[in-house]
Amino acid sequence: MKTCTKCEIEKDESEFNKDKSRKDGLASQCRECKKKYQNKYYQQNKEETKIKRGKYHKEYYEQNKEEIQTQDKNRYERNKIRNKEKFLLRNARERAKKKGIEFNLKLDDIVIPDICPILRHTDI
Ligand SMILES: [Zn+2]
Repeated sequence: MKTCTKCEIEKDESEFNKDKSRKDGLASQCRECKKKYQNKYYQQNKEETKIKRGKYHKEYYEQNKEEIQTQDKNRYERNKIRNKEKFLLRNARERAKKKGIEFNLKLDDIVIPDICPILRHTDI
């Protein structure tokens, strides 16, 4: 039996990794503690990677500012359309309520066509 220096629990030798640099040829910490340490190391690394990635993003943003801003604008336009749909839905619901009609339209049921339906030549 050998006591782990980390968790101070006496464990079987098989619970310890081999370590030739140690007097008894076994690591001072049990496998479980090593694992925990590795996890912690991994977590710390993950944080660092995240920071690095964030920095990369900033650089990427600087280099592609215009493109990103165009994308943002497109997203904004799309949101505007979505909001319009929500607005229409709310209006329709209000009207239905006033008339005492059961309202079961969902947002997905409202589609604002890209092409004006009146000017459209063919029926799609
Ligand atoms: Zn341990």
